Amino acid sequence: MTKAANPEKCPICKKPMAMDYRPFCSKRCANVDLGRWLGGTYAIPAEEPLSEAEFEAIISNDNAPEDQA
Ligand SMILES: [Zn+2]
Repeated sequence: MTKAANPEKCPICKKPMAMDYRPFCSKRCANVDLGRWLGGTYAIPAEEPLSEAEFEAIISNDNAPEDQA
C-alpha cells in the first residue's frame, strides 16, 4: 500500500483528476467516458429514418422557394 497522498486519477488516461471535471482530468476524458457509455455498453436505438412528410418539411424550411415567386 502506498501512503502517498495521490489525488484521484482520471480513469481514462490516469492523469491526476481535475476538480472541475472529476472524476476525470479534463472535459475530453469526460467525453470519452460518455462516448463509451453511449456507444458501448449502452445500446441506444438507431435514429429513426425521416418519413417523407418530415423530410419535405425540413427541405421547405431550409430552402426558400425563390424560383417560385
Ligand atoms: Zn484523463
